[in-house]
Amino acid sequence: MVKKKLLKQIETEFVNEVRNENPDKWLQGISIGEIGEDSLTIEVPNKFVLDRLRNNYIKPIRSAVNKAMGERVNISFEVNPELVNAFPAEAGENTSVKAGGKRRAAESKKESFKKSPSSELNPKYTFDNFVTGSSNQFAYAACRAVAEKKARNYNPLFIYGGVGLGKTHLLHAIGHEIHRLNSDNRIILLQAENFMNEMIQAIRNENMDGFRRFYRKDCQILLMDDIEILAGKERTQEEFFYTFNELYSAGKKIIITSDKFPKEMKTLEERLRSRFESGIIVDIQPPEFETRLAILRYKAEMEGLEVPEEVLNFLAEQIKTNVRKLEGSMIRLSALSSLSGAPMNIALAEEVIHTIMDDNEAMLSPEAVTKTVAGFYKVKVSDLKSPKRNRKYALPRQIAMYLCREMCRMSFPEIGSFFGGRDHSTVIHSCRKIGIDKNSNFELSKHLESLKRKLSERNI
Ligand code: ADP
Ligand code: MG
Repeated sequence: MVKKKLLKQIETEFVNEVRNENPDKWLQGISIGEIGEDSLTIEVPNKFVLDRLRNNYIKPIRSAVNKAMGERVNISFEVNPELVNAFPAEAGENTSVKAGGKRRAAESKKESFKKSPSSELNPKYTFDNFVTGSSNQFAYAACRAVAEKKARNYNPLFIYGGVGLGKTHLLHAIGHEIHRLNSDNRIILLQAENFMNEMIQAIRNENMDGFRRFYRKDCQILLMDDIEILAGKERTQEEFFYTFNELYSAGKKIIITSDKFPKEMKTLEERLRSRFESGIIVDIQPPEFETRLAILRYKAEMEGLEVPEEVLNFLAEQIKTNVRKLEGSMIRLSALSSLSGAPMNIALAEEVIHTIMDDNEAMLSPEAVTKTVAGFYKVKVSDLKSPKRNRKYALPRQIAMYLCREMCRMSFPEIGSFFGGRDHSTVIHSCRKIGIDKNSNFELSKHLESLKRKLSERNI
């Protein structure tokens, strides 16, 4: 009885709040599951409905639940495939039920579009919680502009950067902000991998119509995470290409993240690549020391930790290329000190570093650098160490020296002796040259980024 009343209440709130939508479509088949003292589960027939209700229609639901059960009730959603719902596989126009008739279609619905874990915006990933510095300032500003609709021509927005640098964070932040500004916007947040898996499922279940409708027709903002996964997946790329075009030409916003630059994705179809490049591409670089320190300070504050300045400094010096690890170090520090009662000092911070890094980033070896650089430029390691002055070897050598300085923290004489006993003044000249050239030579700066990423990934 309570459940029935609650459902009725939700319907009423929907009608009040969701004027432009057909509420029946969304409420069809939903049911009230478990009701606890301060919790409530709403069961929904499939992932489509789950995503929509949770991401876009939580307001009327909350308002109904508040009225019926009070303010502090925790609402959760659960897919119950037993529930029957005609949406979305059979809703709308152009519906075709393939051979096998209705039963087959009903079965497909059950199997397709399983709940994808990425469908929820992480409440912690907001613009307010994002610490900016010169490494991510531009990406942050572009994301804000897109979310606030100040930059219509930034479409698609392509965010790229190494692992753990905040791409997903910014993607969710855009989602939150768009939702905050207008909760009627239908946002689809999706891991590229799930797009692929759902497509495969849909093909298997002969439910491509439902799949296409979901991504092409009912979406206003598409947030697509980790698109690099599509490299080499031709069928998925093709499907995504059509989805992209349809959304794009209808003026819908598309935001994509990738840990690779479009040009670096070797097996990405040319037409998709040029689509990605047609909007704006922003990159996130590994944070520089000051930003790392600011992030640590912020995370410590969030954790309610009072961490001495020297410990923060120490961690910021050690953890260079991954913000996730910076964050992890604070959590670890807190756990270690509260478990053992040890004071938060450098010794404890060292322990933290050992537990969160398999290979300490500071221990990146010059061998790893030269091997990676040699592989990248298709020369031999021995050529880099040889006296050969040919440009084919000289540039990779200078780059390798520069990276040894930057990433292995070697002294100039150490680098000189590693590269076949060169004089330290030659090393200084090389490092300086690359340091200057990279600011004006786009290709060089991209090469350096790729190399650094390859190297830091080895150490994560
Ligand atoms: P990516 O998607 O690039 O691999 P994430 O967005 O998942 O990285 O970020 C990893 C973690 O680091 C997340 O918990 C995120 O909140 C945090 N993070 C990354 N960059 C920042 C930043 N600039 N300020 C605060 N937290 C950040
Ligand atoms: Mg990510």
